[in-house]
Amino acid sequence: MKHNLQIPIDYLKGVGPNRANLLRKELGVHSYQDLINLFPNRYIDRTQYYKINKLQQNNADVQIIGKITSFKEVAQKRGKRLVATYQDDTGTMELVWFRGQKWIRENLKLNKPYVAFGKTNWFNGKFSMPHPELELLEEHEKNLRSAMQPVYPSTEKLTNSGISNKTISKIIQQLFIETKGDFNETLSENLKKELHLISKSEALFNVHFPKSQELLSKAQFRLKFEELFYIQLQLIIKNQLHKSKIKGFPFTEIGNYFNTFYKSHLPFELTNAQKRVLKEIRADLGSHAQMNRLLQGDVGSGKTIVALMAMLMALDNGFQACLMAPTEILSVQHYNGLVEMCNKLNISIKILTGSSKTSERKEIHESLENGELQILIGTHALLEDKVKFKNLGLAIIDEQHRFGVAQRSKLWHKNTSPPHVLVMTATPIPRTLAMSVYGDLDISIIDELPAGRKPIKTVHRYDKNRLNVFRFIREEIALGRQVYVVYPLIQESEKMDYKDLMDGYESISRDFPMPDYQISIVHGQMKPADKEYEMQRFAKGETQIMVATTVIEVGVNVPNASVMIIESAERFGLSQLHQLRGRVGRGAEQSYCILMTGHKLSNDSKTRLETMVKTTDGFEIAEVDLKLRGPGDLMGTQQSGVLNLKIADIVKDKDLLQHARYHAKKILKEDPKLSNLDNQVILNTYKALSKFKNIWNYIS
Ligand code: ADP
Ligand code: MG
Repeated sequence: MKHNLQIPIDYLKGVGPNRANLLRKELGVHSYQDLINLFPNRYIDRTQYYKINKLQQNNADVQIIGKITSFKEVAQKRGKRLVATYQDDTGTMELVWFRGQKWIRENLKLNKPYVAFGKTNWFNGKFSMPHPELELLEEHEKNLRSAMQPVYPSTEKLTNSGISNKTISKIIQQLFIETKGDFNETLSENLKKELHLISKSEALFNVHFPKSQELLSKAQFRLKFEELFYIQLQLIIKNQLHKSKIKGFPFTEIGNYFNTFYKSHLPFELTNAQKRVLKEIRADLGSHAQMNRLLQGDVGSGKTIVALMAMLMALDNGFQACLMAPTEILSVQHYNGLVEMCNKLNISIKILTGSSKTSERKEIHESLENGELQILIGTHALLEDKVKFKNLGLAIIDEQHRFGVAQRSKLWHKNTSPPHVLVMTATPIPRTLAMSVYGDLDISIIDELPAGRKPIKTVHRYDKNRLNVFRFIREEIALGRQVYVVYPLIQESEKMDYKDLMDGYESISRDFPMPDYQISIVHGQMKPADKEYEMQRFAKGETQIMVATTVIEVGVNVPNASVMIIESAERFGLSQLHQLRGRVGRGAEQSYCILMTGHKLSNDSKTRLETMVKTTDGFEIAEVDLKLRGPGDLMGTQQSGVLNLKIADIVKDKDLLQHARYHAKKILKEDPKLSNLDNQVILNTYKALSKFKNIWNYIS
């Protein structure tokens, strides 16, 4: 009989009610199971010792052999601290205690060799180690089981309450004693054989008490694989459930609208990627399941026409379709573009935004409800309760990262039965991350730009080179091109940023005076109608320079614009820089992106700028972004399991993630109900996991 691991940690010897409470609150450790799964963040080589004269100001944990030569008490604001002078053959430092001073004085021996372990600070011209772990050298050598001592996650409260790393290690040791280290296997024999994985019990032992570096690596590999495997398994099963449970409207027909458009009105030849994605969408729409698909495609890859053709499929089957975009500008642009492309098809298309007039609204509401209106484009305004469709068959969401999950599901519920949903994004989420975040969505990728596009040339220039940059702008304008100059606008410092923008606008106006030059300006404090007017002037080529904030970031399309100047580029995130750059390079001309910065740059800023200069590949950029910021900041990852990984790392272990997904898929394909004898263990583990963790709250 294996030990029951669901029992509360209070029952473990050495864990009283106090410690149990702390472990629960600070580390989320409730049960034996949780404690075993409290994996070390890293390991320290306890056979390595530091000399005091070799200490550096930013040492992490170090251990130092030395002797305490004296104690003294130092008064401070509240109470006093105990300071010991600690000495080795190279120098002296201080050990410091703010609490538990009586015990320390009574129990620590002067002039005996100790091993002090902890973080060092540089304070008052000396190194000091607050609340070190101290062990007599003799004892330390006796206890040295392995060179790799685990370092567990901790919090200030834990350390302050005397639960040190050593304590946690001891508690876990006790758990292994009580359970005899014998744990249920959680992966099938086949998987273990195929991937050369060590057993669960062996892995758990070695991750907490590594016998060797080799066994530690094997233990980590096995546990990481397992973690990723079960996340993927759950996502895939969820996706399958979704498909079998939620019926979609089958669009059986490819009818007149689609065919006429395809045969006679396509403005250009579709790229192979566009064709492939359309086939994927077509297959979804033709099936009886509800489509729930994410379309990823870099800026300028041509997602809009794919959206249109998907909408035509809905119309051919007698359904309505809608397209929601995050900004007014973008909605208007979609609307104009679609109206133009459909003008020979006799389709009724309308646009609804925050600035639609009451009379227009009324008309739209009515024609939506009686089914006359076939396609509705718009902003968040589409989500208002008053907006009711007669039969919405397909909802498309552009630049979906701008919308919250709740907003999307609102659209979803606009029908008695959910419409097919296509979300489009130009924020290239690395494939690996997409797999774990959106593992329950189907993913289509347009990974090819329309033919004839020249890669944008990107350079980084310092503010002092501004005159050269202006000269370059002048040359480009003389060639008939247009130029964007973009300023950051970050909410907290809006006033200051606004001033930067206006100063910039004035300086550009001076260097590019009328009537030779016409300049547009667009920012968030303008009325939508004024913004629209200026955008249109620029789009029509009436102005040559567009000075703007990031309101133009998303989706705006002016193919004749060939230069993008980004001011204070160091203040933008990578994905934003990439989005902005995507505003140029849309026509046949060579395009340029100039990143302007001040002289002082942080390391992260430098990496961002270098990345932009080096590559135009959105996926590569997203990978770097992920490394710089971690998955926490990436869109939509907040609710997903990726943040709660216990041992695997979504960035470092992306290859393993792919393996895990591959095997999860393969097993489900061969044995969809996990009913084979060999897969019993997987089924049981899966059931247990779904019971204890609600990992179903993914995107719907
Ligand atoms: P995004 O994916 O960023 O939304 P768009 O759909 O706005 O890209 O397309 C960008 C530009 O490329 C538009 O001007 C569009 O007309 C054009 N375009 C799209 N597909 C093709 C194609 N296959 N061949 C040529 N031009 C295309
Ligand atoms: Mg777009």
